Amino acid sequence: MRGFVFNAQPARVVFGAGALERLGEEVERLGAKRALVLSTPEQRASAQEIAARLGPHAAGIYDKAVMHVPLETAEAARAEAARLAADCCVAIGGGSTIGLGKAIALTSELPIVAIPTTFAGSEMTPIYGVTAQGQKKTGRDPRVLPKAVIYDPQLLLTLPARIAGPSGMNAIAHCVEALYAQDANPITSLMAEEGIRALASSLPTVVRESANLEARGEALYGAWLAGACLGQVGMALHHKLCHTLGGTFNLPHAETHTAILPHATAYNLDAAPEAMTRIARALGSIDPAGALFDLARAIGAPVALKDLGMPRDRLERAARLATENPYYNPRPVDYEAILALLTAAYHGERPIATRRRAA
Ligand code: NAD
Repeated sequence: MRGFVFNAQPARVVFGAGALERLGEEVERLGAKRALVLSTPEQRASAQEIAARLGPHAAGIYDKAVMHVPLETAEAARAEAARLAADCCVAIGGGSTIGLGKAIALTSELPIVAIPTTFAGSEMTPIYGVTAQGQKKTGRDPRVLPKAVIYDPQLLLTLPARIAGPSGMNAIAHCVEALYAQDANPITSLMAEEGIRALASSLPTVVRESANLEARGEALYGAWLAGACLGQVGMALHHKLCHTLGGTFNLPHAETHTAILPHATAYNLDAAPEAMTRIARALGSIDPAGALFDLARAIGAPVALKDLGMPRDRLERAARLATENPYYNPRPVDYEAILALLTAAYHGERPIATRRRAA
């Protein structure tokens, strides 16, 4: 067996329907008495419910989280935490809200209790991002890793199908890339394969039956594993392309992951045979790239960049940006091939299985 390094991220996880009941206990474990509750404006009602649960241990609510953590929002939230003398943050929401908690933790070291309500996975990673002057700067810092994560599938019951589907594909992307990451290791790979299986098997029911708690719980379990993979190993071409498209062309995060993933998988098909065998097994198909495309279609998620606001005449620029400072990738990143990949994703074409049989 090849040698490896395994870097566990020391987050505490409380999982299950009704797990939110344990919130008070989790805040108490941190020794905190003045929690600042974070949410997006749309999830203010959830933030109010959290504050009510915390009673005297809630110092206030900051409900202005938005996608990609603009610097002004981060600074306003930091000022509010300082004004209220908060000693912890409770973030209820998706990656945007948890990202805001991380921006506060980065400069104040306030511990975070994360209560994820999407499948994005940010709660399991020490990765933060703040956007200033149209540029998102990301980094890794152990101070931003939430101290406790409460996964309660009941909170996912309000997640509309149009957000749930792409969010689940975003989580699958973390697992796919973890399997062929430069620092892939057997433990993370176990989690990645199981994450793909759990998500792919549950997402069709998640989007079809909004009240199916069992399916939402299974997908949330997969999303936890996916977030853990993202936190443990580096990512590759797929994440590079999505960061480029999201950052430079302001495309929506989870939907961009959905449109790119089948094509990034097809791109790496021959270069990462062991990973592809595991992805295929988890999807129950011999054609992993095609199966990811079919899954996205089956759950009604967008598969064409042109439907996400990508300008046709900027594909060359995107291909150039993605190839200038590439992340590690099992197959060398080549401008012409990336342009072809982006063009296929732009039109929403089903990737063609090109895996060569071993001689
Ligand atoms: P999001 O947090 O922006 O949420 C999307 C919308 O869904 C918001 O309006 C939100 O209020 C709403 N919503 C969330 N949960 C809901 C629920 N249960 N019911 C009803 N509405 C709900 O979207 P996201 O995809 O979770 O996060 C995307 C952001 O997270 C991006 O900025 C991305 O870069 C970041 N991210 C970071 C990491 C990391 O490790 N740092 C990982 C994944 C994503």
